[in-house]
Amino acid sequence: MAQQCEICGADVPHTYLVEIGTSKLRVCKACAKYGVVVTERQVKPSSVKTPVVRKKKIYKLMDEELSFEIVPDFGKRIKDAREKLGLKQEELAKQINEKVSLLRKIERGELVPEDRVRQKLERVLNISLVERVE
Ligand SMILES: [Zn+2]
Repeated sequence: MAQQCEICGADVPHTYLVEIGTSKLRVCKACAKYGVVVTERQVKPSSVKTPVVRKKKIYKLMDEELSFEIVPDFGKRIKDAREKLGLKQEELAKQINEKVSLLRKIERGELVPEDRVRQKLERVLNISLVERVE
């Protein structure tokens, strides 16, 4: 749609926003020289840029959190490590201060241990239950 120059009235495909004195006018290219061209894009950058940068940071944090995952055979690793130490499920459960029923479910792979429990198991059994995911 054609726009109209506010100075000479010409129909032009694009008008420029110029400052002449204290007023701002939309004018054609030829009339733009009578004033100072205001670049409309420069009006916003500070208010636009900030949220964009913040968003990127959040995504980066999420990426970092997602880059560690519990190993798929966590149950077997726990069972093997426990047996190597000669511990019964009841004994290990006591050491990590959790119910034996919970430990049993974890060892069978039926339940993914929450971070708090996983960290205790890792510490007591001296194993790692997470791996880095590319
Ligand atoms: Zn004009």
